[in-house]
Amino acid sequence: MIVKQADFVSSNTEVNKLPAADKPEYAFIGRSNVGKSSLINAMTGRKYLAKTSQKPGKTQLINHFIINNSWYLVDLPGYGFAQVSKKSRAEWEKFIRQYLRQRENLQCVFVLIDSRHEPQKIDLEFCCWLGQEGIPFMLIFTKADKQSGVKSDQNVAKFRRALKKWFEEIPPNFLTSAETRLGCDKILASIDEINQN
Ligand code: GDP
Repeated sequence: MIVKQADFVSSNTEVNKLPAADKPEYAFIGRSNVGKSSLINAMTGRKYLAKTSQKPGKTQLINHFIINNSWYLVDLPGYGFAQVSKKSRAEWEKFIRQYLRQRENLQCVFVLIDSRHEPQKIDLEFCCWLGQEGIPFMLIFTKADKQSGVKSDQNVAKFRRALKKWFEEIPPNFLTSAETRLGCDKILASIDEINQN
C-alpha cells in the first residue's frame, strides 16, 4: 500500500464521541516512549502527523487519522508511565479498555514493544488481556536500528516464548525502525490484506 493521503481527524476523551465507525480501523498502542508516534509518522511518510515525545500526565486522547480516505489509523495513549498516579492509571484502563471492547470497526490492534528489552510484564499482560477479550492483535517490535539484528531477534523470540504460556497460536510480529522504515511496508501490506477481505 502506498500512503497517498494521511490526515488528522479528531482527538477524543470519550468513546461515545468517536468518528462514525464506517471504515476499517487499526489501533496502535504501547508503553510510553516505545516509539509509537515515530513509527506512525514513518509509516505514513508524514513527519508530524502523530506528536512525538508527549509528556506523561497529559490528557489521554484517542487520536484518529484517515488514510487514503479508506481506513482509520488510531493512535492510543501510551501505558506504563512510572510517574502516573493509580487514579490516572485506572482512568486510562477504563477508557482504553472500553474503546477496545466496543469499537465495532476495529480490525486489529498493533501492540508496540521495544525490541531492545527483555519481555516486560506490562506488555505481556496487555497481550494476554487482548487474547482473553478475543480482540485481534499483532506485535510490532520497535527501534531495531538501535542494536544488532541478532539481539532484536533474541528479544522477539523471548517475547513470543513468554506468550506461549497463554496462547496456542502467537500472532504475527514485525520488526521495525522509524529511522530506517524497516518493517513499515510490511505493516501496511498486512493492513491492505485485512481491508481487502
Ligand atoms: P511514543 O511515546 O511511543 O510516541 O514514542 P516517540 O515516537 O515519541 O519516541 C520516543 C523516543 O524514541 C524519541 O526520542 C524518538 O526519536 C526515539 N525513537 C522512536 N523510534 C525510534 C527508532 O525506530 N529508532 C531510534 N533510533 N529512535 C527511535
